[in-house]
Amino acid sequence: MSLKKKTAVVTGAAGFLGSHLTDLLLAEGYRVVGIDNLVTGNLRNIEHLAGNTDYEFINHDVTKFIDLPGEVHLIFHFASPASPIDYLKIPIQTLKVSSLGTHNALGLAKAKGATFLIASTSECYGDPLEHPQKETYWGNVNPIGPRGCYDEAKRFAEAITMAYHRVHGLDTKIVRIFNTYGPRMRLDDGRVVPAFIGQALEGRPLTVFGNGAQTRSFCFVSDLIAGIYKLSQSNYHEPVNIGNPTEMTILQFAEAILRITGSDLPIVNKDLPQDDPKVRQPDITLARKLLGWEPKVSFEDGITQTVAYFRDFLRIKG
Ligand code: UDP
Repeated sequence: MSLKKKTAVVTGAAGFLGSHLTDLLLAEGYRVVGIDNLVTGNLRNIEHLAGNTDYEFINHDVTKFIDLPGEVHLIFHFASPASPIDYLKIPIQTLKVSSLGTHNALGLAKAKGATFLIASTSECYGDPLEHPQKETYWGNVNPIGPRGCYDEAKRFAEAITMAYHRVHGLDTKIVRIFNTYGPRMRLDDGRVVPAFIGQALEGRPLTVFGNGAQTRSFCFVSDLIAGIYKLSQSNYHEPVNIGNPTEMTILQFAEAILRITGSDLPIVNKDLPQDDPKVRQPDITLARKLLGWEPKVSFEDGITQTVAYFRDFLRIKG
């Protein structure tokens, strides 16, 4: 391992975002220590890093004390289930990783004098009554509904991060991540992008929940990771939205997937899950001003790359 390199720690390192973030950090010249307990992450996402002497992987549950020797300069706390069906299945782990896990990751940052960045979420805004959502909006969250375990845990994570900043003077950042997609998402994670692409590629009907009038705004993963890296290098401590403001209904999204995959499959309607947000669109004025960042990858390009990834994945899986 090179001695002069700065060390970054990524929790949730084998996940969709954690693995892409790791690739960027290595390209930026960091040594990276990745931590994951593989509850929702997958080693396949980081298998290309095998043999890289600047990378180390530790299989560890960050809700337990994190014991790392040596210097650490930057910590990215990305460990958490992030799909509604995952956190419905494992609500207690979801609550623990963003509460106990965030506490441990902050404790590590404090012990090492490291900068700390937490992956927060647009779910902090719940089913929003303000549209698009600005960082100043406090949200409309049902704490005891099926999404409460995720939303409230992330809101707690923001609160404890600000407390460490205010009490201990820790250099902290908070990114509120909006719907993001791209290669390395889990095909079966239940989220709408892999669900529709998987259905289209396997010749099954596309399952639109409710009447499909609910909206989302989808950001390609490389844009998101570039924004997060810029935030980590900034001097700003309050939450910053990172996402793509291009908004569409879920029905329009289903039609776009059929068009881009060249499929002629039916769309079937299923029950709308409880507390499913009716609209979601980031206001990224702050990120534009503060970081000089905005998304670059068009919806068409991003989806085409993602479809190509899932095509390969299905071929390899057989
Ligand atoms: N959705 C859908 N069909 C699916 C999966 C999801 O219509 O097979 C809808 C879901 O109800 C929500 C939107 O797509 O309105 C985005 O869902 P996702 O699970 O990707 O994440 P969310 O943005 O709700 O956290």
